[in-house]
Amino acid sequence: MKDLASLIEGFGRFKKSHFESDLFRRLSEKGQKPKVLVLGCCDSRVDPAIILDCDPGDLFVIRNVANLVPPFERAGHYHGTSAALEFGICNLGIEHIIVLGHAQCGGISALMEGSESCEGDSFVKSWMALAQPARKRVLEKHPGASGAELSKACEKEAILSSMENLMTFPWVKSKVESGKLFLHGWYFDIESGELLASTKGRFEPLSGEDCS
Ligand SMILES: [Zn+2]
Repeated sequence: MKDLASLIEGFGRFKKSHFESDLFRRLSEKGQKPKVLVLGCCDSRVDPAIILDCDPGDLFVIRNVANLVPPFERAGHYHGTSAALEFGICNLGIEHIIVLGHAQCGGISALMEGSESCEGDSFVKSWMALAQPARKRVLEKHPGASGAELSKACEKEAILSSMENLMTFPWVKSKVESGKLFLHGWYFDIESGELLASTKGRFEPLSGEDCS
C-alpha cells in the first residue's frame, strides 16, 4: 500500500501526463461535460475511472458505502448522494447513470452478517438499512445458500434496488420516460475480472459492443 510520499510523487506524474496536456487546458476553459454518472462503492479496489479506463472529465462519480441510492425524500438535511445526483442530472445533463456494484463488498457483507462496524447509533447500520429489502428478497430466493453466496446475490439485488430508488426522483423518472436518460446496473467481479450488466434483473457478462 502506498504512503503519502508516494502519493506526492504520483501527483508529479499526473501533472506531467494529464495536467500539462491539452485535456486539462480544455477542461479548465470549457468546464466539465460528462455524459455518464457512475454511482460506485467507496471500496479502494473499485475506482470507476480506473476500472473503466477513463480520463478526467469523462465520469461524474458518486461513491458511498455499497453504492446505494436512497429513495427520494424531502425530510432531513444532509442528502449527499441525492444532492450529487441532482447536480449531475439537472445541471450537467447526464445521459447515463451506472450503478456499479462489486464482489466482496464490505457493506453488503456487514448487512448480511449483521456485523456493522460500530454498535448503537452506527452510521453504517442506518445507511445499510437502505438495502434491507434486497437482503430480504435474497434470503427468500436462496434458502439454504452459504454466507458467501448470499452476499454475492445481495450485492446484485442491491443494485436493482438502487435502480428502483432512482426512479423515485421526479427528475430521473421524467428524463427516463422521455428517453433522455438511461439507467444501467453493472457488477464488477473483482475475483474473476468480469463486468456484468443487468438485463431484466439478470446479470450477464458485458462486452464492449453492448456499451454504446
Ligand atoms: Zn462495496
